[in-house]
Amino acid sequence: MHELSITQSVVDMVCERAGGRPVRTVSVRVGVLTAVVAESMRFCFDLITAGTVAEGARLEIDQPPGAARCRTCEKDFALPDPVLLCPCGSADVEITSGRELQIISMKVG
Ligand SMILES: [Zn+2]
Repeated sequence: MHELSITQSVVDMVCERAGGRPVRTVSVRVGVLTAVVAESMRFCFDLITAGTVAEGARLEIDQPPGAARCRTCEKDFALPDPVLLCPCGSADVEITSGRELQIISMKVG
């Protein structure tokens, strides 16, 4: 379950930035290609934040879909899973969306 280590680093950063103030909401962007399961991440978040300034904070998860661009036919196409193949058959593709792993915002105080 790699959600645990990912969520741990998110919570570490959030607590550091909060500077002792209580955290109300944390918004993260986690692309579908990171293979993070939103429900697992919520579960880990509640577990890890217990006893920290982020205890009880709401976790908002935005999951952008996967997308890629083919260098052979120069088309953009949806990438529902990490199989890097263009419908044209080319494997020379570049991921343009879906690998995000960012804290977008947090509300404190
Ligand atoms: Zn192509």
